[in-house]
Amino acid sequence: MADLQFVVRSPANQPDVVEVRYDCACGCKPRARYRRGAQEASYEHCCCGNVHFVGAQAAQRLEAYLAERRAKGEDADVDGYTTHSSQVTAPWGEPVTVAYGVPHTLRKH
Ligand SMILES: [Zn+2]
Ligand SMILES: [Zn+2]
Repeated sequence: MADLQFVVRSPANQPDVVEVRYDCACGCKPRARYRRGAQEASYEHCCCGNVHFVGAQAAQRLEAYLAERRAKGEDADVDGYTTHSSQVTAPWGEPVTVAYGVPHTLRKH
């Protein structure tokens, strides 16, 4: 699967929040938010198995999340993940990390 193309914007009336979403090949529109200055990240795990984290330590949180699922056997059906980390520019001009994992075998929508 190709790299995900992220759309970056602030929700209406929330200039200190960035929402990062993409149009998933399965038909869903997963989105995750990050508040400016927060030491937190949030994520959405799409029905097909794609998962993206946005915010502080997004890459580390993604790896920890996938490792925990792997330990529980929850991702045995998708045959492992390829992970990526990139940066987008928030509407207030600062870089925000977006980390995402793409499963080797996608689940059905
Ligand atoms: Zn999906
Ligand atoms: Zn879906």
